[in-house]
Amino acid sequence: MILDVQDLPDGFSLDADICIVGAGPVGISLALTLATGGRRVLLLEGGGPAPEPDSQALYRGQVDAAGLHPSPDHYRERRYGGSSTIWGGRSMPYDSIDFETRPYVPHSGWPIDLAALSPFYGEAVRLCEAGRDAFTIETAFDTPRRPMIEGFDGEHFTTNTLERFSCPTDFGHRYRHKLEAAEGLQVVLHANVTDIRRSETGSEVTGLTVRSLAGRQGQVSAGRVILALGGLETARLLLASRIGERLDAVGRYYMCHIAGTIGSLKFTGPRDSVWNGYDVADDGSYCRRRFALRPEVQRRLGIGNFVARLHHPRIPDPRHRNGILSALYLARPIIPYEYGKRLYGDEAGGLGRWLAHAVNVATDLPATLGFLIHMLRDRRLAERKYPSIVIRSKSNSFSLDFHAEQVPDPDSRVVLTDEVDALGMPRLKADWRYGRADVETVSRSLALLAGDIERSGTGRFDYDPASVESEMTRYGAYGGHHIGTARMGSDPASSVVDADCRVHGIDNLYVAGSAVFPTSSQANPTLTAVAMALRLADHLKGSQP
Ligand SMILES: Cc1cc2nc3c(=O)[nH]c(=O)nc-3n(C[C@H](O)[C@H](O)[C@H](O)COP(=O)(O)OP(=O)(O)OC[C@H]3O[C@@H](n4cnc5c(N)ncnc54)[C@H](O)[C@@H]3O)c2cc1C
Repeated sequence: MILDVQDLPDGFSLDADICIVGAGPVGISLALTLATGGRRVLLLEGGGPAPEPDSQALYRGQVDAAGLHPSPDHYRERRYGGSSTIWGGRSMPYDSIDFETRPYVPHSGWPIDLAALSPFYGEAVRLCEAGRDAFTIETAFDTPRRPMIEGFDGEHFTTNTLERFSCPTDFGHRYRHKLEAAEGLQVVLHANVTDIRRSETGSEVTGLTVRSLAGRQGQVSAGRVILALGGLETARLLLASRIGERLDAVGRYYMCHIAGTIGSLKFTGPRDSVWNGYDVADDGSYCRRRFALRPEVQRRLGIGNFVARLHHPRIPDPRHRNGILSALYLARPIIPYEYGKRLYGDEAGGLGRWLAHAVNVATDLPATLGFLIHMLRDRRLAERKYPSIVIRSKSNSFSLDFHAEQVPDPDSRVVLTDEVDALGMPRLKADWRYGRADVETVSRSLALLAGDIERSGTGRFDYDPASVESEMTRYGAYGGHHIGTARMGSDPASSVVDADCRVHGIDNLYVAGSAVFPTSSQANPTLTAVAMALRLADHLKGSQP
């Protein structure tokens, strides 16, 4: 059943076996899995079914270094479905090395390994609608596929691992009927949790305070409470409920990914010797290959995890003379902020630049029109959307898009401010930081890749090593990947939850989502966040309420 908190009387009181707070992909996956076997499950969601400016404004906050981090009300959505209402759907599991304690990555090491999570990836891929749990070109396809780059044999990089793409699935929309039909499950919209109350000793959650922007207030009690609010909001609620006073790691070790676009890659073979497009699986899901830094190289050189993709030239610079890219430039006013920032950066426009792009479109009209039809048919109208802009370069020239692990740093953190939101909750301040080790991971990986390409005789990768740091921070901590703020570990002095995602010292409080990841990997976080949520659900089903 799905209801609105306004349907309940003021001063309402609800009770459940398990209460999940937050109906994003993680909370919805938990609810679908736990609402079986006679359990009474409550899913509380602060937002409504559509975007609401007042609800989104609850996410506003401050940032310490404005150029480095977007305003906290960007790159996340306070509504039913959470940020899956706008996500890109890029999905891949974490690598085995990500779970290891690596002496060269301070604060690394998960209390679980990949084997503990592997059984849950299959179902997570299914819920994310990303095809099946097969993430190499050899395992995903029955018949051999053309190589990504003919003749490339990397000493440091592989090209056979895949990223798979979700539809991208809006979990609230896709699973609405299932949530409505699930016996024992109640979903309550516009139900914002503003406080977690605990017993005198602090070792048990006794209730949650729930408020709506329209003035409803009530209480919820539950045998177990799971916070699934996303990486920033989980820390905010823990801090606002004074749980951070006894667990210093709450809000610390805040990571995103280190990402950017750099350089010029030119392959010497014929056009067909390079494949930068999507491979389409039998079920219709899109898969794409990338350069992935081998784990043994990471260990040997003491650097973090890193992947890179073939990318089109920078859009705002009309010297690319590509009508498709120029059409995208001209479409700038209708592209959402979260995607526009990466496509265009903060570079100023101006009439001259606009005209140069218009000329590109006019001189490359057939290709541009073909692209617009493809985008309309395969992206706008298709249920499974074509994931991104892929330009087949006539000259086999590309730029390089990279996505790297960020080292956990206790001083990179989110804290509460003195300012409060419309529900009286302190607002957040994000003080996101990167370090020398992050610059080192990207710098050394790029140099290794340039070497691999040159040695294989397939082409050249030219970039300015002095520009690496500015390129990797050009867009700041973009991407909506909010990781590590309630990290998993065995020591309460340096972590927030244990290996079962239970908050240290509180018997019935759990955290689900990327907040619990101790390290960030190269991988986008949602698939692993869902797999971790399914592992938590499995644990809770197996233990007594
Ligand atoms: C533009 C964009 C593109 C992205 N692309 C990708 C991608 O390609 N691949 C990938 O892996 N990830 C991607 N992400 C990240 C992905 O969206 C998140 O990892 C994912 O949504 C996290 O799921 P979640 O359920 O943990 O949190 P959320 O999606 O943030 O959901 C949290 C829910 O909690 C609710 N809530 C918050 N506070 C309260 C409260 N106090 N009380 C009650 N309810 C509350 C919110 O309204 C929300 O519904 C992208 C994000 C953005 C913004």
